[in-house]
Amino acid sequence: MTQSDCEQSIVSVDLEEPPSSRFETTTSEFSLPVVTPTSRIAPASLPTEPASFVAPAFKRPRTTTRTRAFRRAFFPEVADRDWNDWRWQSRNRIRTLQQFEKMLVLSSDERQALVDGGSMLPVGITPYYMSLLDREDANQPLRRTVVPVTGEFLRTPGEADDPLGEDGHSPTPGLVHRYPDRVLLLALDFCSTYCRYCTRSRVVGHGEIMPSEQRLEKAFEYIRQTPTIRDVLISGGDPLALSEDKLDWILGRLRSIPHLEFVRIGTKMPAVLPQRITPQLIRVFKKYSPLWMSIHFLHPDECTPEANQACARLADAGIPLGSQTVLLKGVNDRVDTMKDLVHRLLMMRVRPYYIYQCDPISGSAHFRTSVSKGLEIIEGLRGHTTGYAVPTYVIDAPGGGGKIPLQPNYVVGRDGNDLLLRNYEGQVYRYPDPTP
Ligand SMILES: *Cc1c(COP(=O)(O)O)cnc(C)c1O
Ligand code: SF4
Repeated sequence: MTQSDCEQSIVSVDLEEPPSSRFETTTSEFSLPVVTPTSRIAPASLPTEPASFVAPAFKRPRTTTRTRAFRRAFFPEVADRDWNDWRWQSRNRIRTLQQFEKMLVLSSDERQALVDGGSMLPVGITPYYMSLLDREDANQPLRRTVVPVTGEFLRTPGEADDPLGEDGHSPTPGLVHRYPDRVLLLALDFCSTYCRYCTRSRVVGHGEIMPSEQRLEKAFEYIRQTPTIRDVLISGGDPLALSEDKLDWILGRLRSIPHLEFVRIGTKMPAVLPQRITPQLIRVFKKYSPLWMSIHFLHPDECTPEANQACARLADAGIPLGSQTVLLKGVNDRVDTMKDLVHRLLMMRVRPYYIYQCDPISGSAHFRTSVSKGLEIIEGLRGHTTGYAVPTYVIDAPGGGGKIPLQPNYVVGRDGNDLLLRNYEGQVYRYPDPTP
């Protein structure tokens, strides 16, 4: 199906029909199936059959009612094969005002931002991610992160296009060498869905960081010549927007450098385009173990059956998964929202890794929270939930200082030889710690 076919089918949709009527008809498909007694599977003569034999009867839903309703409304002709094909999703990204107007009831501010354009960051949303957005509510968290508003055009004091000073730490184009033992390799500047608060909006989507062999060879050469580097983080843009062949080539070249201990990949695909995590991609990854992955997740609404399947494939391939979450005003700046997110991440075998204070990138004032908000969230997690669920809260220091961790202060003071510590409930405890 071509782009114009899609647009025709969009036009024919009766937008007045409330989506609720669509939900009703499919509910039974999504309610959790009852696990039937073993008698259905095992004959009575095998009463000790382990419970795991029953497990295959438990079928997880493959999508949400919300995504289904969206598909029926805007892509009714599109077959499952296409919808689940990441290349189709990528080709059919929502980019124009006209498309936005069909799929969302735009606020006047959103419309203004789309009309004016001109911000540093291009606009693009995969149909899958668009299906997770609320059609009416411009303040829905996911919608705020991908639909532009005029706040992007405002520049406030302290903001910069390159607040992290990445350009100054770049020995070759697209390689950032800030810490002695590890480098950040920007593979390309393309993302399937653009986050409005993107730290790299100065490069992303501008055609400056291309995945050309020439540029990448220069980066590989620098790494080869720098034996202190033991860890390469491939980011972008989204490196998983590259083809399997290209990724195979990049990973193969890197792993042939003897002093590299491992490679990691930073991606948002499991959240914005989970269809990208194909068996073919997994086959490539399996060749280059140990490979680690940092996945950009923002909000519990991203933890769909599709995202779950993508993470399951990666985890089953032996890739340890960590999450990176940017703290954003009105999106995830509440303890209960973050707690919900980290719990869902653990269920998807993703270990919460970092919460980032939002970088002071130009036009980000409407997204930034105070630092005390971040500390409040960490304090609301530590001790109140599984230790694995608690990420490290960091500020990437403007000017290129690297990530600086911030912790609520649990040391209350000292009494003689005792250190006074408060626990997560605010009670004070003593620990004998004589001053030397
Ligand atoms: C975040 C980052 C890294 C990786 O940092 P870790 O704390 O090891 O995850 C490396 N280089 C640059 C430039 C970075 O911004
Ligand atoms: S996925 Fe990462 S690089 Fe791409 S737009 Fe979002 S924050 Fe920027």
